[in-house]
Amino acid sequence: MEKNISLKLQPSIIEVYESALVNNLDFIRDRIGGGVTISSVIKGNAYGHGIDTFLPMAERCGISHFSVFSSDEAATALRAKTMPETHLMIMGWVPEDALDWVIDHDISFYVFDFERLKRAREVAAGTGKRALVHLQLETGMNRIGFEDDLYERMARYLTRHRDHLKVEGLCTHFAGAESVANFLRIQEQKKRFEKAADYFRGQFPDITYIHAASSAALLAYPDTIYSMVRVGIAQYGYWPSREVYMLLKKEDRQRGKDPLIQLLRWKSSVMSVKEVEEGEYVGYGNMYMTNRREQIATVPIGYSHGFGRNLSNSGFVLVRGERAKVTGIVNMNMMTVDVTDINGVKKGDEVVIIGKQGDQEITLSSFGEISNNLNYEVLTRLPQNLPRLILQ
Ligand SMILES: *Cc1c(COP(=O)(O)O)cnc(C)c1O
Repeated sequence: MEKNISLKLQPSIIEVYESALVNNLDFIRDRIGGGVTISSVIKGNAYGHGIDTFLPMAERCGISHFSVFSSDEAATALRAKTMPETHLMIMGWVPEDALDWVIDHDISFYVFDFERLKRAREVAAGTGKRALVHLQLETGMNRIGFEDDLYERMARYLTRHRDHLKVEGLCTHFAGAESVANFLRIQEQKKRFEKAADYFRGQFPDITYIHAASSAALLAYPDTIYSMVRVGIAQYGYWPSREVYMLLKKEDRQRGKDPLIQLLRWKSSVMSVKEVEEGEYVGYGNMYMTNRREQIATVPIGYSHGFGRNLSNSGFVLVRGERAKVTGIVNMNMMTVDVTDINGVKKGDEVVIIGKQGDQEITLSSFGEISNNLNYEVLTRLPQNLPRLILQ
């Protein structure tokens, strides 16, 4: 009921296609083979798809491990989950005074310094639970992670406190597996990680998850697939980069089509249509002047909804299965598009900002290229307050 009302009230909605997720997960499972766990990465509001929309849908598709960046995202995910076996992992930020909440809810978390390890032991001892830690190892990204010279001290500490600390995972992150330019750096990281993994497996034979690969690494460097992969962008239907896509395209040439399908479709509707005489300015200032008598349609989407002002006079949307160019400045809540060459556009017609309409499509990457944004950035900037609607 509440959801239906909010669908009616909103100027635009985001549709999320479950069949596309099924397709993408099948593709990923094919690549990684059996016995490897997929951790579905849902940071950044599930890359704009909405954690509360996406998580239960992914559960239906057989996913039971999810990765978030921070404790607040874990709280959202905890509310959204529907299955008891669903497990959450925090890959980044947990404030000191939230550690007890995290441990109490059996959420696993990255540890990348000794203070955190000690604090986790204290808190776990207090709650009577074991803290489920993933040791993040520094292998060359130089962001967060334990340095090699701490490994022995860590192992001793973890052995001594095994009643309160469970080494559930061992992990690292590659510094840009989506670009061939980083090939040597990735190889070096892989070497360091495997050496460390050998050491820790010797000390803790029951480590459940060894994980390093994100979408780009699992696609471009299959030898970095261990017992778990952390998949973000690919499950949503996007390639981490054009390079990774080209790499795969060659292998999968006989398939002849993109094996990933985008889940998301962002749509609105025409709010008003008017005829404007030749030589008139449209909208604020003098950014756009008609060069003939034009049909101008107004769409209730603007930069406050994530449609960047830098798309003024240059973006496109789809109306009646055809591309219509954004004319003039994108406003806070509205924009105007030229529909002169599209027959019969009228108030209420569907407008697609991202996704397919008829046989036309506005891909996120085309949207991103116009505005110079990465897929990742465009997705995560989609407004949180727009309703997400799951469709088949
Ligand atoms: C975001 C993230 C991922 C997922 O990356 P994709 O490129 O979206 O697959 C994996 N691991 C870590 C640590 C991340 O921060």
